[in-house]
Amino acid sequence: MLSCKKSAMRLAKEMDGALPWHEAILLRLHLKICKVCTRLKADFAALAEAAKYYAAQEEDGVMPLTSVRLGPETVEAIKKRIREVGGDNLL
Ligand SMILES: [Zn+2]
Repeated sequence: MLSCKKSAMRLAKEMDGALPWHEAILLRLHLKICKVCTRLKADFAALAEAAKYYAAQEEDGVMPLTSVRLGPETVEAIKKRIREVGGDNLL
């Protein structure tokens, strides 16, 4: 069985489209039994959507991406959320 840490790494690899099929099968099995990694997958998808949105905004000249900075409260909120879903080892 995959560990959650390996699962998280494979989720990231999958998002890059670089996950071999045999690793994808092991990841799917892990996701069937692990709520934490299932939640992490949803969070990764939400982050990817947000990144696409802001990249499109930048392309349209609406908001230069380089001007976006996370405030310390936002960074702490993200860290808190990662801890809540059991991802302490990812911080
Ligand atoms: Zn897991």
